[in-house]
Amino acid sequence: MPAVLIDGKAIGLKIREGAKARTAVLRERGIVPCLAVVLAGEDPASLSYVSAKERALAEAGMESRDIRLPASTTEAELLALIAELNRDEKVHGILVQLPLPAHIAEDRVITAIDPAKDVDGFHPVSVGNMVLGRPGFLPCTPFGVLTLLRELHIPLAGAHAVVVGRSNIVGKPLANLLTRKDVNATVTICHTGTKDLARFTREADILIAAAGKPALIKPDMIKKGAAVIDVGVNRVPDSTAKKGYRLCGDVDPAAVEQAGYITPVPGGVGPMTIAMLLQNVVQAAERRTI
Ligand code: NAD
Repeated sequence: MPAVLIDGKAIGLKIREGAKARTAVLRERGIVPCLAVVLAGEDPASLSYVSAKERALAEAGMESRDIRLPASTTEAELLALIAELNRDEKVHGILVQLPLPAHIAEDRVITAIDPAKDVDGFHPVSVGNMVLGRPGFLPCTPFGVLTLLRELHIPLAGAHAVVVGRSNIVGKPLANLLTRKDVNATVTICHTGTKDLARFTREADILIAAAGKPALIKPDMIKKGAAVIDVGVNRVPDSTAKKGYRLCGDVDPAAVEQAGYITPVPGGVGPMTIAMLLQNVVQAAERRTI
């Protein structure tokens, strides 16, 4: 039997409805959750991510402060802007769209954000809180993957989860969240230094691909019936597509015959990332009004 296709759009919508309802409660008290969205440069993928996030915020009744900067913006200018947004009482969350132009140190910019407004969950304080299991903002994509698995009631306790990728924004935090006591999965992390990737992926009850490599995971690398979460969003050239490319995940589409559950690309993890961002923004606004 082919895998059950996981509808990230529908599950994401449910989360977004929850954020919208919480926003309505805040609005009754005269508080409008507001996210400052900072984009430096004109990377086409970043532009489309930013507009999708802003559309979702508007649909949930939240505000976005759209700040577009030229690619020539200096690090000092960006840091001054962050300091201003940190002070601004009307701004509850700050999102700096990555990647930044090469002459700006992402680390310094992320660290300059007030952790109370760090709705992306990338600040070292947020990362520390996550690792220690303390309250704080969780990074949206890993939080979205965990929420998907939970919403589908996929057994996590005692399951073997294999995460392919160790980036600071996806692989590492996701592996960390899955080992939390209230999740209780056993986690293996694979990366470019892993010898014989398939040996590990074949053991996975839950396989999470976050490598950024089109169709890296082939059907014969998947245990029959496993839950396969494809985080990858890769642009592959396609002359038959209007834009000249199509989006493709890290998992070969033929894996649908082997997996028990699988996320499509697009329509799987992507919508969850946006949903969790909205949830973090409303949480930031609520926290400041307690
Ligand atoms: P990254 O390039 O920072 O990290 C990729 C990781 O994969 C690295 O740690 C590397 O060690 C590992 N890797 C690469 N090739 C490998 C291989 N052949 N075998 C084993 N490991 C390998 O990427 P990232 O920022 O973590 O993003 C990963 C993918 O997820 C990208 O396609 C990105 O576009 C996508 N992404 C999607 C969302 C979403 O919302 N859907 C959000 C963030 C990232």
